[in-house]
Amino acid sequence: MLLTITTTHQPATDLGFLLHKNPARTQTFPLSFGKAHVFYPEAAPERCTAALMLDINPLELVRGHRSYKAETLENYVNDRAYAASSFLSVAMAEVFSSAMNGKCKDRPLLVGTALPLKAMITPLPCRGGDALLRRLFEPLGYTVSAVQHPLDEVFPDWGESLYHTVILEAALPLSQFLTHLYVLIPVLDNDKHYWVGDDEVEKLLRRGEGWLASHPERDLIVSRYLKRRKGLETIALAALLAEDAEDIDTVQAEHADEEAEVEKKISLNEQRMQAVVEAVRSSGATRVLDVGCGEGKLIAVLLKEKQIEKIVGLDVSHRALEIAGSRLHLETMPEKQRERILLMQGSLTYRDKRLAGYDAAAAVEVIEHLDLSRLAAFERVLFEFAAPQTVVITTPNREYNAKFETLSAGKFRHKDHRFEWTRTEFGAWAMNVAARFEYDVRFEPIGDSDESLGAPTQMAVFAKRTKNFSPSSTVSTAPTEISTEV
Ligand code: SAH
Repeated sequence: MLLTITTTHQPATDLGFLLHKNPARTQTFPLSFGKAHVFYPEAAPERCTAALMLDINPLELVRGHRSYKAETLENYVNDRAYAASSFLSVAMAEVFSSAMNGKCKDRPLLVGTALPLKAMITPLPCRGGDALLRRLFEPLGYTVSAVQHPLDEVFPDWGESLYHTVILEAALPLSQFLTHLYVLIPVLDNDKHYWVGDDEVEKLLRRGEGWLASHPERDLIVSRYLKRRKGLETIALAALLAEDAEDIDTVQAEHADEEAEVEKKISLNEQRMQAVVEAVRSSGATRVLDVGCGEGKLIAVLLKEKQIEKIVGLDVSHRALEIAGSRLHLETMPEKQRERILLMQGSLTYRDKRLAGYDAAAAVEVIEHLDLSRLAAFERVLFEFAAPQTVVITTPNREYNAKFETLSAGKFRHKDHRFEWTRTEFGAWAMNVAARFEYDVRFEPIGDSDESLGAPTQMAVFAKRTKNFSPSSTVSTAPTEISTEV
């Protein structure tokens, strides 16, 4: 992987003094896990670029670390040798240590000077996507741009990968610039790293001095950097809070703004959950599937419903399920409560026997994450094979996007959305599905409705038409009368 740092400060070749690396030479530094090469692709008075290329030996990783003793294939087949991660941070700290610590005998005045700097990092795994990348760097004054790379250029249908080429620009002293990268690259990568010891708290506090305490994503940065080691996290946060106390007024003001922003979101999200729970509750369901359950928001609300005996959350993302498990406190939940929940990994576009035998299924903000070409498979999996009496589906109403000021025309609300539908499009799809799989369907808007654009979220509630329909009966959806056909 490659990190380049460019400046247009004049003379730009002063970068060589600040980094303590001569632009005329290529240098190689041995590291415990491979080699770091430093060279300058350009070194002119107007513009100078230093490159740090990391050449990781994957076998060193396997041999060199305790936690790698287990002979699993993942130890040998992984992206650690190719992706920017904590190894890049370790290399930076070793190779650019004087620059990071703000030491430069030759150009002492430049050490504290804000220089126009630009970093390019590739490939950087961004867990949390472009949005998190921005939330991490923009509050520190960076201009961020990123290109996401496909999983495989030959098979564009496979979609996007985690890997980005990221460009970060800011006018900052070089030591601060490098320090931000040092802390935030592993935060974005958020994968295994091998150097979390007790002194990591001390390192984080030292590297985060002056910026981390008041960073709006402070808690996430600390948690990811310390790899969710609770004990360490608590120590670090306590220290950061103490540091932050001096600046409490600014932080309070910032938090109030954030809260307003969050509340806007919460209210739509809460309204959505309430509407879905209401539809499930009034169907009389006791066994409920939450397909594409993500981090378990709906499950948390469904748990409060006494009528519901069993809730199964299914998601394709192992990570999302892990988060769901910890948000729901599954580990410490009383046994009776715990037995009501089952989280399982699976894909909604493959027939799955485990989904049979439930009264209701909810797919909240999920269909728009599926490729249109896979939607037909999803329809069969849910309506033909799982075939619960009630299916509740929510999805954004694209017409309403015009009301989101921050959303440019033609853009979707989320990077991972494959499509967003107007009310007519969703209506047509839902009615077609209902007709083919013998359901009735009704529609409900969720959130504050605009007269001409409709509501931000649209919901369809499907009820299976009863097979043994008796002409004398006016009730067509009593759940006990219906046999699940799987
Ligand atoms: N229902 C949740 C999450 C919505 S985000 C909520 O409202 O908060 C969409 C979720 O669908 C993600 O968690 C994603 O991992 C999941 N997903 C996307 N494609 C899927 C598939 N093919 N099978 C199962 N889950 C999928």
